Amino acid sequence: MDANEVKEHARRLGADLVGIAPMIRFEGAPKQMDARYIFPGAKSMIVLGFRIARGTLRGIEEGTLFSNYPSMGYAALNQVYGPMVLWNLTRLLEDEGYETIPMLNANGGEAINPVTGNFRKGWSRPASDGKPYPDVLVHFRLAAYLAGLGEIGWSKVFLTPQFGPRQRFAILLTDAELEPDPIYEGKICDRCKQCVKHCHGNAISMHESVKVTVAGHELEWNKLDPLACEKGIQGGTNRELDPFEGDYPRLYGYGRAIEGACGCIRACMIHLEERRKIKNLFKNKFRSSPQWQIDRSKPYELTKEVVEYYADRGMIEDSEEYITYNKRDNYGTEGRKPEIVNPLVD
Ligand code: SF4
Ligand code: SF4
Repeated sequence: MDANEVKEHARRLGADLVGIAPMIRFEGAPKQMDARYIFPGAKSMIVLGFRIARGTLRGIEEGTLFSNYPSMGYAALNQVYGPMVLWNLTRLLEDEGYETIPMLNANGGEAINPVTGNFRKGWSRPASDGKPYPDVLVHFRLAAYLAGLGEIGWSKVFLTPQFGPRQRFAILLTDAELEPDPIYEGKICDRCKQCVKHCHGNAISMHESVKVTVAGHELEWNKLDPLACEKGIQGGTNRELDPFEGDYPRLYGYGRAIEGACGCIRACMIHLEERRKIKNLFKNKFRSSPQWQIDRSKPYELTKEVVEYYADRGMIEDSEEYITYNKRDNYGTEGRKPEIVNPLVD
């Protein structure tokens, strides 16, 4: 199988983007982040990109549906859809006699903290002398860069000419020697800093930057505060983009990104669409009214519509007493008390 056939199969199986890097492009990477230690016989890294549908951001943009982006636009893309394509492409390569590691974008055992980038002392031991501490952390955005798919923007989010900031990645390491793609030499990020201005975690620096050299190219992005992002992504620094009174349930064991990447994806996407700097453009503008914010100085109260419809019919329940659908049949029959579960505290 040659590179073109691999790409055709990957697209047919569901990838939106495919790029190929020779493993030598990891030369100069820190040992803890060098994928060659994972598969010393690997010759190629295939990087697959999956678009984050613009529609998955719609519910958060309108302030009316918060589960769709954290699930369909985030965790499920990384943990369900991407792995399906990885498995099927791996089967094809293995049928041709090429060992292939399908790597989904999920963290767990890395010796480097994937959020802070710090080394985790006391976490693991090298399996033998000279090897890195397990697990090696593969930086998916740098992998996408090595495979020629685009560039890292000022926000530190990866930008492609097709979708701007709207994609997630999965990786295959294989001993198949495939024709590599050139490093992307275009410019998508124009340093407009809309990502900074609209980041509700105050995580993206306006002026301070980080520079790294990758495959002979100097890359620069903002000096991101990852812990500020961790907080901000869950509804903003002061929960101004979190309309919920309690914690929002995690979706697919992870997704809780209810701030909807207000700066680094939504504002960036709006900017790149307006400037027509990306290929996947839409018939209608994304934003039709300014970004809403919750005013938490006001007390919680029910709206008139809810009182008139639900309260007047005795249909109000305490949010702490969430009744599961499968127990609903028992509700009110034979005097049995329904089982109460609270999904907000597990
Ligand atoms: S919002 Fe502007 S500065 Fe920020 S990453 Fe996008 S294009 Fe670059
Ligand atoms: S996810 Fe939100 S908080 Fe984090 S950098 Fe992007 S805009 Fe800022």
